[in-house]
Amino acid sequence: MGFSNVIAQQRVKAMLSGAIKSGAIAHAYCFYGEEGIGKDALAISLAQILNCNNPISVSDGTVDSCGKCKNCLDINRLEHPNLMFITALPAGKSTAKLEDSPLLQLSEENLALYKEEISLKAEDPYHSISLPNAQTIRIASIRDIKKQVKMTATQDGRRVFILSQAERMNMEAANAFLKTLEEPHDNITFILTTSKKDALPQTILSRCQQVYCDILPQTDLAHALIDKHGMSITEAQLIQAFAQGSYGRALAFMNEDIQSMRSDIIDVLRSALKRKHYRLDLMQQLEHAIADKDRTKLELMLRMLALWLRDCHYAVNVSDSNDGIMNSDQVESIRKFASAFPNADYHSILEMIESSIEQIRRNVNGSLVMFTTMMACRETFLLNTKEFIDHAPTDLSR
Ligand SMILES: [Zn+2]
Repeated sequence: MGFSNVIAQQRVKAMLSGAIKSGAIAHAYCFYGEEGIGKDALAISLAQILNCNNPISVSDGTVDSCGKCKNCLDINRLEHPNLMFITALPAGKSTAKLEDSPLLQLSEENLALYKEEISLKAEDPYHSISLPNAQTIRIASIRDIKKQVKMTATQDGRRVFILSQAERMNMEAANAFLKTLEEPHDNITFILTTSKKDALPQTILSRCQQVYCDILPQTDLAHALIDKHGMSITEAQLIQAFAQGSYGRALAFMNEDIQSMRSDIIDVLRSALKRKHYRLDLMQQLEHAIADKDRTKLELMLRMLALWLRDCHYAVNVSDSNDGIMNSDQVESIRKFASAFPNADYHSILEMIESSIEQIRRNVNGSLVMFTTMMACRETFLLNTKEFIDHAPTDLSR
């Protein structure tokens, strides 16, 4: 997992390469930015380059690991004495002793789950580790860091401690970690990664070099989906459009049946726009569409709806060419729908869908959000389409 395996992030790679070449690697970094853009991947790569036996110079001026030496291979497996990867863990078993290392405190079942997640992370650093009831980075993990830091290194190279989703440290853990950060250490780098930088104490942030990581450019994201997952161009383009620059989000969406989710949500919209007796139909369609969907999937459905409507707006207001239509397999259907609503105020509809997505993220009842979104769509669409209410056929624009 060198820089060459990290998607995009050229600016950050160049900056870190400069620091490596001039021997000015910071004592602590905070890599921050959106979820799923590769902050952990960058952190693991940096650890690998710093410990590689034969680092290489790349023609663009960056440096990279060889990917072949023992150190590189061990870091790829996240099993290297110089690399410590810290993440949120579930509470320990009741018999656990306070001085035990955090993994020793876990129940057998949780330890097995943890190992499985770590091996998925090693396979793909973009994998988002998720363990049941693991919301916090525990004080035990920070005590373990303290202990490790005090021990003499068993290997050459630089010891790197990665605190993934560092904002998950609870107050006690953060205070303890701050003390460690304040002490001077030779040949040690802490890397905090977070998508919620504001949730980290200022006292910790001020001791880290803060590195903003960009969201991924559309083409890089689509290429990664095609190269790494053998996706077709159309599929990659579609998923990329929903993922909004986050590879992690694209991975989460990848296993979904995108096509059928999209047709479900568009059917719901169509039933909401029926001339008469729409209510029962809308509720049935909605119930079918959102059955068994968690918040991530509801958000995805709303993004699909937004993208489809954005395409309608493009078709009716922007261009006669089909090149800019993202749902490229639905051009005919989109043009037909759009022509039925020539005066629709797409801007306010899209804004409204964004605020619905916000509500879903804030844990507002999912089916309520979906229903009110559809009712608001109905109101906005029909507001400027008086003739539609009087004359439109019920199977409009299918
Ligand atoms: Zn190497």
